[in-house]
Amino acid sequence: MKETIRKLENLIIEAKRICFFTGAGMSTESGIPDFRSSSGLWTKNQSFVDIVSRSYFEKHPIKFWQAFKEIFRVKLMQQYEPNQGHVFIAELEKKGKLVHIITQNIDGLHQRAGSTNVYEIHGTIQTATCHTCKEKYHLSYINAHDIPKCENCHTILKPDVVLFGDAIHHFEEALDAAYQSDLFLVLGSSLEVTPINQIPIIIATETNIPTVIINKDRTRFDYLFDVCIQAKIGEVLQQLHI
Ligand code: NAD
Repeated sequence: MKETIRKLENLIIEAKRICFFTGAGMSTESGIPDFRSSSGLWTKNQSFVDIVSRSYFEKHPIKFWQAFKEIFRVKLMQQYEPNQGHVFIAELEKKGKLVHIITQNIDGLHQRAGSTNVYEIHGTIQTATCHTCKEKYHLSYINAHDIPKCENCHTILKPDVVLFGDAIHHFEEALDAAYQSDLFLVLGSSLEVTPINQIPIIIATETNIPTVIINKDRTRFDYLFDVCIQAKIGEVLQQLHI
């Protein structure tokens, strides 16, 4: 393990343009459960794929909001803080690396840690939009109303999270940032979610960019990466001297 850590350290020191691809495992050390590990939300609530979908929102917006708020712990969202992993990435940018983050997370913790180039490909839980007049509302408004409605036209708001059945955001720009990098790291993702898992798969199979995955559990795609570390992100990053 020590040798792998030193290898990772050298890769980061030598890289000028680093692209991180982060998943729910990035934020478990902040207290937000992921989907697919043993304590993940998925195992506790199998039916949520049907609920967290565009069609369910359109057919049953009231039931959707009740379930959505529970599944994603929306009330607690403002209390979670960035962890040492988010801070580590933000500090690389402050130290002069050109850092891009492609995140599947909707929690906004990368930006709160100070990172600036963040592609939130599955949207954000920080806002919701009225699809009649396009007015946006912040999380504090969403939390102040059981079923958040637009103040102007009384339409039930839609969270700015990509639901099953919605198109993902920024795919082309994110892929471009990945191609432009000279180091590509996956942190805390099962790589099971399509189509976004195509980005790490493409970078690992079709380019010579060094690739790293740090994930607590094995993924189906570990064999594609140059460096594969099966451990907690915080435990690994705290051993790096950059
Ligand atoms: P996932 O739940 O499928 O996979 C998370 C992976 O992270 C697991 O393989 C797990 O082993 C690993 N992991 C957990 N804690 C870790 C740690 N401390 N260090 C290293 N690895 C750790 O997550 P995914 O691949 O991101 O896909 C799930 C979808 O869930 C995403 O689309 C995302 O939008 C959504 N989601 C987001 C949040 C969030 O915003 N924080 C939370 C839950 C789910």
